[in-house]
Amino acid sequence: MTEAELIELLSDMGQPKFRAGQLYKWLQSGVTDFDGMTDMPKSLREKLSDTCYIADVKIIKRLQSKIDETVKYVYELYDGEYIESVLMKYEHGYTVCISTQIGCRMGCSFCASGINGLSRNLTASEMLAQIMAAERDNNIRVSNVVMMGMGEPLDNFDNSVRFLELVSSDKGMNIGLRHISLSTSGVVSGIEKLKEYNFPITLSISLHAPFDDIRSSMMKVNRKWNIAELLKACKEYQKVTTRRISFEYALIEGVNDSKECAEQLAKILKGIMCHVNLIPANPVKENSFKKPDKTKILHFKRLLESLGVNATVRRTLGSDIDASCGQLRRKAKEEKL
Ligand code: SAH
Ligand code: SF4
Repeated sequence: MTEAELIELLSDMGQPKFRAGQLYKWLQSGVTDFDGMTDMPKSLREKLSDTCYIADVKIIKRLQSKIDETVKYVYELYDGEYIESVLMKYEHGYTVCISTQIGCRMGCSFCASGINGLSRNLTASEMLAQIMAAERDNNIRVSNVVMMGMGEPLDNFDNSVRFLELVSSDKGMNIGLRHISLSTSGVVSGIEKLKEYNFPITLSISLHAPFDDIRSSMMKVNRKWNIAELLKACKEYQKVTTRRISFEYALIEGVNDSKECAEQLAKILKGIMCHVNLIPANPVKENSFKKPDKTKILHFKRLLESLGVNATVRRTLGSDIDASCGQLRRKAKEEKL
């Protein structure tokens, strides 16, 4: 709830305004039951327990990397569903990669999150709870969030926007929108709606291929909105927000790693202030694709740079522990059955 909503809730219970501030402080500190809110009257705590709940997630699996400080989590939700999150340590602080849906209905061919379709949307508080659980578990403060876990955030638009408003509220977790990235597979209608909010977040577009035939074979969403329509929406989004856009490009051997792909990519991104993030594709058990070898990836990057495109190869964190992108959850689910 926003502070205004809390004030309204408490005033409906006949409580003074300052109680909302107290309650918000407790929520911000990560308390997950009303009983622990010791400076509030017992009768109010009981009333709150009867009528409200504080969303929380339970850690089912915790995998800690020995190479870097990455921790991968499988969380259980109130209804027994599982989701994944990853905590990563960078020089500038801690980043959490959160899920926005349970499963995904976009069905990209290389991604394990979509294999069984969508179970349900996550609420904004279930998104917040993923960050709070990682903070509690490691006794740290998270400074950056990437909405790049399971699910398509723009297919869960209202909850994603509500999450952005809550997480950045100075009365809430107070993580600045400039420290948040939202990744989309290219839901153009969602990009157009998001533009209206003019959030200073980083929009990441999972492009993965510069030709429609290749992209459509990897991503069903391209059959609805093709590359030209997607890039048009990106340009309009950038006109409003003036923020640099990040394009994700998962390199798959023999699919999208050719010289022609690099050249076409540079051509279509002309005129967009952007950055290309090259991701060596993460193998998925149910699939047979492979990532190109290191030399080929570097070659692709250099070619892009020589054509004037800003590109980096994403550092692989936590490579000694199980992969993510929906695979951890699948494994945990299989183990439970
Ligand atoms: N649904 C959103 C955000 C979640 S997916 C989206 O698609 O953008 C986050 C990122 O992981 C996307 O760029 C997605 O394409 C990428 N991804 C999914 N499976 C992958 C895999 N097996 N290897 C590499 N990247 C993968
Ligand atoms: Fe969904 Fe993103 Fe995975 Fe595609 S890549 S199936 S949109 S989570």
